Amino acid sequence: RQHSLRELVGRPALTRDGVPVSLLANLELPEDVALAKANGAAGVGLYRTEFLYMNRDDLPDEDEHLVTYAAMIAGLDGLPLTIRTLDLGVDKRSDLITSLGASVSNPALGLRAIRLCLKEPELFLPQVRAILRASALGPVRLMLPLVTSVQELDTVLTLIAQIKRQLDREGLGYDPAMPVGAMIEVPAAALTARAIARRMDFLSIGTNDLIQYTLAIDRLDEAVNYLFDPTHPAILRLVRLVIEAGRDLQIPVSMCGEIAGDPRFTRLLLGLGLREFSMQPGAILDIKEILLQADTEELERRADQLFARLDEDEPGRLLDALNQI
Ligand code: PEP
Ligand code: MG
Repeated sequence: RQHSLRELVGRPALTRDGVPVSLLANLELPEDVALAKANGAAGVGLYRTEFLYMNRDDLPDEDEHLVTYAAMIAGLDGLPLTIRTLDLGVDKRSDLITSLGASVSNPALGLRAIRLCLKEPELFLPQVRAILRASALGPVRLMLPLVTSVQELDTVLTLIAQIKRQLDREGLGYDPAMPVGAMIEVPAAALTARAIARRMDFLSIGTNDLIQYTLAIDRLDEAVNYLFDPTHPAILRLVRLVIEAGRDLQIPVSMCGEIAGDPRFTRLLLGLGLREFSMQPGAILDIKEILLQADTEELERRADQLFARLDEDEPGRLLDALNQI
């Protein structure tokens, strides 16, 4: 089986009915670009930059960011790199955030990710400047974690415009059209996805946090692991809202939470209209094998049936049926 899966690397990622699907890689380490390419990834849909801040007591400067991104861009050889700005917080703890005062009684609901970055410019500015400068070297997208309100986006967009003027004055290059996107991983963001989509160039659904915040279950607490249900009707509704917002406002929507790389959910997500999946590189060929067999029209019809019964007892059965086609 391993052998036949390897043969899929070069195959175009098209469903049985000819719909192109983008299979992207989630990376934590720059050197894993090689792994992404070996598995035929169409690019990097989520580069988690936290490692740059780990196990040290100073902050990476702009040049360190830039050197890291430049190496990845070179390795990707024309494939897009989606760089997520710093998402330090409860589950990605570092002494740095403690020193910045981010440790409080309920860190998952506290000063983390984009909130921390907007409060601490010395964390955020060097990274955003480096991402912009990296965009001169190849296709780069900037992605914001844990967005909750459009005010946060407006602040970031103003900041980016300022940095562009700064770079102009300094004679440093960047791509003026570098796409800026938001992760949708807070229920409030999913419910206001249209307003967010109006300001952004793309959206990416982070189901790990979206499930945590929607179902009120700590993703790190094993005692409530059994409640972690990606097919909870509330989650399905939120995911659908986001995909529809992207469709209506004509911006791409991807998913970079773990379920994007879990074969049990591929047909369901295709049925909901998802066309970009970002996952750990090792899952790409498994997902590709499924989508090559998938008929999106049929899956969308089944997903519609599922939604019509979402408040009844039958969704579970319909979900099974969806996985059998
Ligand atoms: C997510 O929340 O789904 C996600 C992809 O981000 P992380 O797992 O890094 O929080
Ligand atoms: Mg997240």
